[in-house]
Amino acid sequence: MPARLIRGTEIREQILEEISAEVAQIKRIYGIVPGLVTILVGKNPASISYVTMKVKTANRLGFREIQDNLPESVSQEDLLAHIQKYNQEDSIHGILVQLPLPHHIDEKKVINAIDPDKDVDGFHPINMGRLMIGGSEIKFPPCTPAGIREMIIRAGVETNGAEVVVVGRSTIVGKPIAIMMLQKERGGNATVTVVHTGTKDLASHCRRADILIVAAGVPGLVKPDWIKPGACVVDVGVNKVGEMISEKTGKKVAILKGDVDFDAAKEVAGWITPVPGGVGPMTITMLMKNTLNALKFKMGII
Ligand code: NAD
Repeated sequence: MPARLIRGTEIREQILEEISAEVAQIKRIYGIVPGLVTILVGKNPASISYVTMKVKTANRLGFREIQDNLPESVSQEDLLAHIQKYNQEDSIHGILVQLPLPHHIDEKKVINAIDPDKDVDGFHPINMGRLMIGGSEIKFPPCTPAGIREMIIRAGVETNGAEVVVVGRSTIVGKPIAIMMLQKERGGNATVTVVHTGTKDLASHCRRADILIVAAGVPGLVKPDWIKPGACVVDVGVNKVGEMISEKTGKKVAILKGDVDFDAAKEVAGWITPVPGGVGPMTITMLMKNTLNALKFKMGII
């Protein structure tokens, strides 16, 4: 039987409706809405597209949204000054600096300059530390891993005692999702293995997985015979493998492929996320949730 699809596009709508209802309620009771600033440096087309989607989603939810576009030539000092200003602004609850930044700017310095209580991307070392400790220490889980876990929970996949294999050890996906899956809490309590470029026999580890989370950035890396029959396969990879003309707009669009050979894998897996339309839509959704939570933490209602 072909796998059940876990569609991020559907789960996103459920979560955005929940956030929207909470925003309306907080506004009615306290007269305040979540405030999010997105700082974009330069004109990288992919970054512009991400920021545009973030702004659109924030506006749809009734957030106060500020888009701060800075030129490619902005100095590190000026960028840090902008962050300081937003750190001190009461009506701003979340600060997002779109990555990557131009080469003359030290990304680490920029991330570290964000007030950890406004770091809705969850990349500040304090929030990474909170994630490691787990439980009530966690404030802002990084958005893509948080989205992955939410998809697994909402699809009804059992994580308690499950064998989870994560392919990839990046700081934004692989490492945090591995930590989240092993915490003794809802959507966790799994036995986790992380595999990477230094792993001797990738396939043998993947074959043990009840839940296989793949974030390698290598199109079609995971073959169907690496998948345990009935397993849940979460494909985080988004790889541009070509271009085509969109029937809808007549414009050139990227052809995207995941890290899993989807057509063959769906015949073996029990659940699978498509690319596009799987994990992708969840990242911005969880950013919105983190921004709402930033306001709730500040007000002491969480
Ligand atoms: P990364 O390049 O920072 O990390 C990739 C990891 O995979 C590395 O740890 C590396 O060791 C491992 N890896 C690479 N090739 C491998 C191989 N052949 N065998 C075993 N391990 C291998 O990438 P990332 O930022 O974690 O992103 C991974 C993928 O997920 C990319 O395709 C990216 O576009 C996608 N992504 C999607 C979203 C989203 O959908 N919202 C968010 C972040 C990343």
